[in-house]
Amino acid sequence: MADTRTFDDRDGWIWFDGKLVPWREANVHVLTHALHYASSVFEGQRAYGGKIFALTRHSERLVNSARILGFELPWSVPELDAACEQVLKANNLTDAYLRPVAWRGSEQMGVSAQATKPHVAIAAWEWGAYFGDKALDRGLRLDIAPYRRPAPYTAPVNAKAAGLYMICTLSKHHAEGRGFNDALMFDWRGQVAEATGANAFFIRDNVLHTPTPDCFLNGITRQTVIELAKKRGIEVQERTIWPEELETFEQFFLTGSAAEVTPVQSAGPWNFEVGALSRQLAKDYSDLVNGRLSNS
Ligand code: PMP
Repeated sequence: MADTRTFDDRDGWIWFDGKLVPWREANVHVLTHALHYASSVFEGQRAYGGKIFALTRHSERLVNSARILGFELPWSVPELDAACEQVLKANNLTDAYLRPVAWRGSEQMGVSAQATKPHVAIAAWEWGAYFGDKALDRGLRLDIAPYRRPAPYTAPVNAKAAGLYMICTLSKHHAEGRGFNDALMFDWRGQVAEATGANAFFIRDNVLHTPTPDCFLNGITRQTVIELAKKRGIEVQERTIWPEELETFEQFFLTGSAAEVTPVQSAGPWNFEVGALSRQLAKDYSDLVNGRLSNS
């Protein structure tokens, strides 16, 4: 059973700046730079049967995201990998979600953060299907987000940075308030971009189409699904997609470490079927992460 208590009131262990601390003691001060100025980056990855999928790629992205925000983590990628494994074991988890987070500390207040020290914490917990089990079968209903993904000259779009999620939470709340599961976001040019926490793929005539990730995260799941599709001999087109084209696609699914491969039934006025190829790729992904398919 998943734990229904608030996230600060649970049993277990959190890796905090190099050592495991009791869950309830993994705290930061209110004058932490990250809390005021969003100087924080994070990761999200899943473990399946005790093995963390694409662990090193996630650790590398965490280090790189921090670097994009101008700070170096005091732990190497292998050290972060080992810390994630340690957290999983310490909490007796085999199928779980892991959340590494890195942030600037409380040594300095104000916009400048030169004197702050970097911190890293890693937590893990059981987390079922991101959108719930029903979504996998029927497909998600997406609203169109009121906010657009910013241009690369407006925000550090290649970092998985907390600050970039402000418009995602607002868009998700807007969607949920109107009875939708999530929102499809366009970018600053008006092109189709992604959902609030997952990348987008479309299918027409058994060809996969996905927006070029030039102002949003090139997700690890996205890259994995592209490889899986190519392995099946399916053509994949990474390109500009304008909203006008959405009515011509037959299928639509989202990808993400938390979301995995989740079909979409509608986005704004456009409808899609939960079709065979979407289901096949969802199964391929599930087989791969569960060690039932080789990644070579
Ligand atoms: N876009 C956004 C905004 C996300 O939060 C995520 C989840 N990290 C993704 C895309 C997918 O990334 P990944 O497949 O690496 O989890």
